[in-house]
Amino acid sequence: MNQHVAIDIPKLKARYREERDKRLRTDGNNQYIRIEGHLSHYLEDPYTPVTPRDPKTDHVTFTFIGGGFAGLVTGARLKEQGISDVRIVEKGGDFGGTWYWNRYPGAQCDTASFVYMPLLEETGHMPTEKYAHAPEIRAHCSNIGRQFGLYENALFHTQVSKLSWLEGSGCWQIETQQGDCFTSQFIGMGTGPLHVPKLPGIPGIESFKGHSFHTSRWDYGYTGGSPEGAPMTQLSDKRVGIIGTGATSVQCVPHLARAAKQLFVFQRTPSSVDVRDNAPTDPQWFETIATPGWQQRWLENFTENQAGGTAKEDLVQDGWTDLSRRIRARIAALPAGERTPQAMWSAWEDADFEKMEEIRQRAEEIVEDKATAENLKAWYRQLCKRPCFHDEYLQAFNQPSTRLVDTDGKGVEKIVEDGVVVNGEHFPLDCLIYASGFEVGTPHTERTGFDLEGVGGVRLSEHWKDGMRTLHGTHVHGFPNAFIVQPTQGANLISNVPHNLTESGRTIAMVVKHALDHGHQTVGVSQEAEQAWIDLLLTGPGRMIGSQECTPGYYNNEGQEPGPAARFSVGYPQGASAYFKYLKDWRESGEFEGLKFD
Ligand code: NDP
Repeated sequence: MNQHVAIDIPKLKARYREERDKRLRTDGNNQYIRIEGHLSHYLEDPYTPVTPRDPKTDHVTFTFIGGGFAGLVTGARLKEQGISDVRIVEKGGDFGGTWYWNRYPGAQCDTASFVYMPLLEETGHMPTEKYAHAPEIRAHCSNIGRQFGLYENALFHTQVSKLSWLEGSGCWQIETQQGDCFTSQFIGMGTGPLHVPKLPGIPGIESFKGHSFHTSRWDYGYTGGSPEGAPMTQLSDKRVGIIGTGATSVQCVPHLARAAKQLFVFQRTPSSVDVRDNAPTDPQWFETIATPGWQQRWLENFTENQAGGTAKEDLVQDGWTDLSRRIRARIAALPAGERTPQAMWSAWEDADFEKMEEIRQRAEEIVEDKATAENLKAWYRQLCKRPCFHDEYLQAFNQPSTRLVDTDGKGVEKIVEDGVVVNGEHFPLDCLIYASGFEVGTPHTERTGFDLEGVGGVRLSEHWKDGMRTLHGTHVHGFPNAFIVQPTQGANLISNVPHNLTESGRTIAMVVKHALDHGHQTVGVSQEAEQAWIDLLLTGPGRMIGSQECTPGYYNNEGQEPGPAARFSVGYPQGASAYFKYLKDWRESGEFEGLKFD
């Protein structure tokens, strides 16, 4: 579906504004309920029983907080550099991070496996599908853990409560809610942006007497079935409701639609749902691509295509690169003298309008009931919210069991003992599933449960009170021997977060190796180097997506003015590809400019 569609742009823009305005609210992030106290059962781990163990009081060389992709890739690279004494501390019962928790039916990666799954070449794993399903990704995480010996020293079901720099000893002290108190020369943190589930602040939410759970703690004991795809037979006589229609809901609704006696999908804002086009991997084809260095080539090619680069070919060829291809084609069509920032912005917007129009047409073509199809159309630019791709989601609304309950941007009105009320209509339910997402934009100390206490007892939250300050998004002045693994103030590549993480992991391992080889106890960034990095970042174009013109969501702080600190939530001015090249040169020079080793 790539035919040209005639678009009345002023009319479309007016519709986008109208739909956004309908959803703007004054409480922003505060509309959500934090899961704690009497709600904390929603956080319990349904997958792995907690095994009692003795508290740790020893010393290790490197401790990494978080056992998701960030911890695994950093741990693996440290091991490759010969640093054997690595401990990963993880609140879940195994490695995987988001893939440990998210086992809802249909969970799969949204970015092609070949670039999304880290360390494929190192582990020799061939993803079985273009978009691998969650059990395969979780197994891959375990394989990485086993292959690189990361299980030996790992602490699972363990939450850090305090991290403090021990001035005299030149190392960190780590305390946990499980009673551990040990020291570590270096620490890393990969606590991820989307790991604390949240509930919608709907009146009466506590009164529901049926069964309920959050999608990141799927209760297969209740639904039947399994993450591997066994049908949820225990839902065959159940009326099921699901609140939320983001990326998670899009993936699990088709499975619920097949299993439940009745399914009600409560929608506040529709997702844009484009073609998925998943396919099993042909091993013969994979052999042809899997030559030495293949994954790095694919990663770089995807980033070049996706993040505004000038790649000559598109290896991944999917919905993510499609929009970029369209934008590039429009820009290339501009006469050389007319490539002004304004003209380039218009090219970007026009490509997006066209793409979204096709996605809306797709809903119309697939969904049989005209009113339902109309309500499933997304009226915003594609990157205003997380783009979704699925070949069974829209189709699910053609099943007699399934009803879309659109709330016209208002959300569910109230929850009562036996169901949900929308626009005055009562929907009796046996089971209510919250696909209501994860905390974003709340203070990081609240999300992680700890603050870093650096040199002189200065807390990270204090150092960052006017906004994040780092070198490369990794090193923070006053917090020696500490490394943060995340995309901001680096590549800022949101379409393939693992690429950011693998490059950080590689860099950190080289810095640590350098420190150890040269007998340095500490390494840290100078104030000047941190400031120079921030100054450089602020010369860039700033935040493109997450714009306040967008419909509210976690990409744009729920539509609220983000506050002055947000101006630091930017990436390298020349873009992701240029950043990765810069970082490679920086680490391979062996100079580690801006860092001070003592
Ligand atoms: P989201 O935050 O994207 O979605 C939450 C949903 O809950 C939204 O549809 C929101 O509506 C809705 N909602 C909130 N309050 C109410 C209310 N009162 N009444 C009705 N609806 C309400 O969470 P997800 O878990 O879907 O996704 C989070 C992120 O996790 C994704 O954006 C993505 O980054 C990641 N993810 C990645 C996947 C992958 O890579 N395979 C798969 C799934 C998730 P509204 O839009 O109006 O706010």
